[in-house]
Amino acid sequence: MRPSRALIDLQALRHNYQLAREVSGARALAVIKADAYGHGAVRCAQALQEQADGFAVACIEEALQLREAGIRGPILLLEGFFEADELPLIEQYDLWCVVHSSWQLEAIERSAIRTPLTVWLKMDSGMHRVGLHPADYQAAYQRLLASGKVAKVVLMSHFARADELDCPRSEEQLAVFQQARQGIVAEVSLRNSPAVLGWPNVPSDWVRPGIMLYGATPFEQAQAVAARLQPVMTLESKIISVRELPAGEPVGYGARFVSERPTRVGVVAMGYADGYPRHAPTGTPVAVDGQLTRLIGRVSMDMLTVDLTDLPHAGLGSRVELWGKQVLASEVAQQAQSIPYQLFCNLRRVPLLYLGD
Ligand SMILES: *Cc1c(COP(=O)(O)O)cnc(C)c1O
Repeated sequence: MRPSRALIDLQALRHNYQLAREVSGARALAVIKADAYGHGAVRCAQALQEQADGFAVACIEEALQLREAGIRGPILLLEGFFEADELPLIEQYDLWCVVHSSWQLEAIERSAIRTPLTVWLKMDSGMHRVGLHPADYQAAYQRLLASGKVAKVVLMSHFARADELDCPRSEEQLAVFQQARQGIVAEVSLRNSPAVLGWPNVPSDWVRPGIMLYGATPFEQAQAVAARLQPVMTLESKIISVRELPAGEPVGYGARFVSERPTRVGVVAMGYADGYPRHAPTGTPVAVDGQLTRLIGRVSMDMLTVDLTDLPHAGLGSRVELWGKQVLASEVAQQAQSIPYQLFCNLRRVPLLYLGD
């Protein structure tokens, strides 16, 4: 059997969720969209079920998968519905729903639902992706209340640059939000992971942690609270072949690496078809039998090569950690000009093995 796999540490997941709640002092919707960022949404939801105040997903397909697996409690649709005919299902499966556009508001007003919904009304406070214009926000809020179709409204917005700790933009967005919601007495939700970790003064009755649940930092630089996260996923495989090369020999496609000295090359059963980033350059950290070394040469579809020259005890069958508790996914991401979010979401073909249930 191919030795490549991703271990998912559910104990670490619970630790990170608890940390999000602790540092924010707020209720937390565990964001498990996109199959829990590649970690398996149903298993992650089950592991958090007792603890979590609720969950958040991108669309109704993801929510129904959770309900069918027996997940109870609040599930928020972060983009609401894409078509008005989802509203009866939202009612039937007792889902919470973001309203980010006026067409959604109108669809709710026109709908025939009988059980009043919980709506998270999203304001565009400056990211300019989705959300109602600040000038339209109060009227939208009043129309939702007047529709008779809505039981509760949570006020929501999203920051574009919360991962940049020196950037004033989050505070500017907060000011726009506060100005536009003045006079509305309701719960508020503003913070994703970088805002939970890095912006403690931003008010939020509800936080929406995603990437931090999986133990990866959203920041490029070190950050004190992020340092307390525990990596959840360990992507690992084994050395399946070893060769000794003299100096001056190329390794792999395109001869992107040429040995500067006599080099011991280990071949690892892991490639870009598993989701390991093809753009990770020579020098990207990997751990072999617990010791740090480097990727060399181009990543292929099913294999990649590592430098074993300074690890004389490593060889055939040695365990390789591509990312996990020793090699952080955020470090690999930075090398590959990507982000841990994308690394996790790109994971495929490797079986997921769950620990700490
Ligand atoms: C995905 C998402 C989140 C989670 O973001 P992280 O940076 O992963 O914490 C929070 N809020 C909204 C609206 C999202 O779409």
